[in-house]
Formats: sequence, structure tokens, C-alpha cells
Amino acid sequence: MTLTADTIPGTIADVREQFGVWLHENSDRLRELCAPGQDVAATFTAQRELQKLLFDSGWIRLGWPAELGGLGGEMVLRAVVVEELCSAGYPPPFSFGTQEVLGPAIARYAPPELAADLLPRLLSGSEYWCQGFSEPGAGSDLASLRCKAVEDGDDWVISGEKVWTSWAQVADRCLLLARTGEPNSGSRGITALMMDMDTPGIDLRPLVSMNGDAEFCSLYLDDVRIPRSRTLGEIGGGWAVAMTILASERGAAAWQRQTWMRARLHDLLKQAPDLPPAVAGEAFELIHALRLLSRRTVHALSRGEDIGATPSFDKLLMSTAEKFLFAAALEHLGSATLFDDDPTSAGWRNDYLYSRASSIYGGAAEIQRDIIAGRILRLPGRR
Ligand SMILES: Cc1cc2nc3c(=O)[nH]c(=O)nc-3n(C[C@H](O)[C@H](O)[C@H](O)COP(=O)(O)OP(=O)(O)OC[C@H]3O[C@@H](n4cnc5c(N)ncnc54)[C@H](O)[C@@H]3O)c2cc1C
Repeated sequence: MTLTADTIPGTIADVREQFGVWLHENSDRLRELCAPGQDVAATFTAQRELQKLLFDSGWIRLGWPAELGGLGGEMVLRAVVVEELCSAGYPPPFSFGTQEVLGPAIARYAPPELAADLLPRLLSGSEYWCQGFSEPGAGSDLASLRCKAVEDGDDWVISGEKVWTSWAQVADRCLLLARTGEPNSGSRGITALMMDMDTPGIDLRPLVSMNGDAEFCSLYLDDVRIPRSRTLGEIGGGWAVAMTILASERGAAAWQRQTWMRARLHDLLKQAPDLPPAVAGEAFELIHALRLLSRRTVHALSRGEDIGATPSFDKLLMSTAEKFLFAAALEHLGSATLFDDDPTSAGWRNDYLYSRASSIYGGAAEIQRDIIAGRILRLPGRR
């Protein structure tokens, strides 16, 4: 079954029913594409194919406008697709997260022709993109970033360094933040640019993290030329683009994470029948609280509302739930989880290690608390 603009399901219940049928019809192919235990290159190839399968059948085109490769309808319909995919035992690929994190900012801030050219490539899996925000010394304090962009004719010329750029080694493009104002211009002097990863002058060095994956990269940029037509939003207006992206990363991406955590809690209950009820209950409570909070965020995003700083709540609860769940798994699944290399043990071990990162990426937990205290609760700041 392939959806078209005329046949998109009208309600959430319709999506669940029709996508359930599609999942059943495609189960063999889905199992192949979601099989664990492959290396990075193979994983990303499989993820691109999964993304393409879901794009070609129309499911992840839901909620994007037709001129950007979508089928129209509400974004919440797409969120339900991810949930159903996960409930059926297929973990949402990284590319889904990237699509939700970077896609809305491209739709909103890229010049219309650029958005129409680029976004369908991301949604269909023909490209993968990375996010070039953090720098040595500019993570939590993102507004202090130093990577510089200088105008030269029709181009920006970029020099500087980015770090912790996830999966840059397999990315076709990078959404980059660069300083176009004076060195001390803070958040007012930053511009967002779309950089092709095969541009001369990019020296990319993978960094291995504690789970053994070379997820991160350092990017050394030496006179990298980006056409001015690749500017997203206003010159000097990159902070607004960054805030849109971070709101998506803390909001819509948390929805995907909770669908997956629910599936992992079910796995844990099956594999650790002696899990103390109090632990199981606490994990259930945290994940379901996140689900309810995140449901509200996804509906607000779907209605096109400005959700301001509220996704900081989602992000904080997400990392709390994730750390609790996988610490419980590590404690109650036995020593195999620590030492064995079968895919199940390795999967739990990886999930535990990655859960430690959940309170860092997208803005550390302390920063989320700071945002909640200052911008939402309006508590007096320190002097
Ligand atoms: C898995 C993962 C994936 C990532 N992917 C990307 C990516 O694709 N692209 C990208 O650009 N970045 C990425 N990052 C980087 C991430 O955004 C930064 O690590 C994060 O913003 C924290 O910055 P930092 O590492 O420089 O730590 P720092 O900012 O140096 O913070 C160190 C510690 O100090 C605390 N701290 C700092 N300032 C304050 C304050 N004002 N008040 C209280 N506490 C404070 C922090 O909370 C933290 O605990 C990723 C990180 C991880 C873990």
C-alpha cells in the first residue's frame, strides 16, 4: 500500500490501523533492515534503506508540505508512525531523529528553493545530515562559539573547529553555526549555514566514545567556501535557527526516545522476571510521565504553536527516565550484560552507556534546569 495526498489517513486511529497492516506486509524486509550487530557503514546503509522504504510508501511524508516532499496532513500522524514502528519491535533509526531535529528548521528558515531541493533528500534517506554546533569551549555556552564566517564575493569563507559532531563521517551535509559578527557579539553575531561535507578544506577526524562507537567527529575547517545562497534565516540570525533546532531536539526527538524506552522496558520485564516491582513501577512511571508530557509537545508542534522553552522539561525527564531504565537493566540482568558479546548483552550494555550521554546532548541537564528556572518559572537569577 502506498499513500498519496488523496489517501492519507485522517485520524490517529486510522494511521495505527493502516500502518499496522503495512508493518505486517513488510515484516520480512523490516527485520532485515533493523537487524542489530552491524558496523557503522552497514548500519547507516540499512537506515537509509529503511528511511527510503517508509518514504516511498508515504508514511514518513505525513505532516510535511507537498512542496517539501511531503503529503500534507498533521505532523502528529508521523509521530504515531514512529510509535507503531517501535511498538512492533523496530527501533527508530537515527535518521528519524535527524529528520525531526533539522527538518523543521530547514522548512522554516531555508530560502524556499533551497528547502524544496534539500528537504526531500533528507526525508527520503538519499542524504544524511549532521549538526555542527559545539566547539571546544562552546558547548553549554553555545553563544560563545568562535568558528568564523567571512563574506567573500558570493561565498562565506569558514575557518574554525567543531567537535562532537555526531556521525559527520557518513553525513552529506552539515547544518553549521558560524560567527559572522564581532568576536564578542554573542548570540547576535551567529549565522546558520548549510555546508556540503565534500567541500575542500574540511578535515574530519572521528572520535571513539566509551561505548566503542566512533559516533563523534572533530571538524577542522580551513577556508571552506559555502555559497551565500546556503544561508539559513537572517545574517546574524542564526540563534533563532539554533533555538528552533534545539526545541525540536528536546521536544520531538524525546517522543521518539520514549516510544523506544517503552519497548525496552517490555524487553527488560521479559528478560529479568525477578525485577523488583518497585523498580519496574518507577521505570513505568517515568516513561509514561514522559509520554504524556511529550504527547502534549508533539500536539503543540503539530498545531504549529511556538513551544518556547517548554521542551526543556521533556529533555530533562527523558534523560532521567533513560538513565533509570538502563541502570536497572544493568543491575538486574546479571553479569552477561557486562561481559558477553552476544547481540542481546551487547545491546543492553550499549544502551546503558548511551543513557549516560542523554543528560549531555541537546543541552546538559544543568542547562535545562537553568532554562526552566529562569525562562519558565522566572526565578530570580544569581548575581
Ligand atoms: C551523544 C552526544 C551527541 C552529540 N552530538 C552533537 C552534535 O551532533 N553536534 C553538536 O554540535 N554537538 C553534539 N554534542 C555535544 C553537546 O551538545 C555538548 O556536549 C553539550 O552541549 C555540553 O557541552 P560541553 O560538552 O562543551 O560541556 P560543558 O559545556 O563544558 O559542560 C560541562 C559540565 O558543566 C556544566 N555546566 C556548564 N555550564 C553550566 C552552567 N552555566 N550552569 C551549570 N552547569 C553548567 C554542564 O552541565 C556539564 O555538566 C553531542 C554530545 C553527546 C554526548
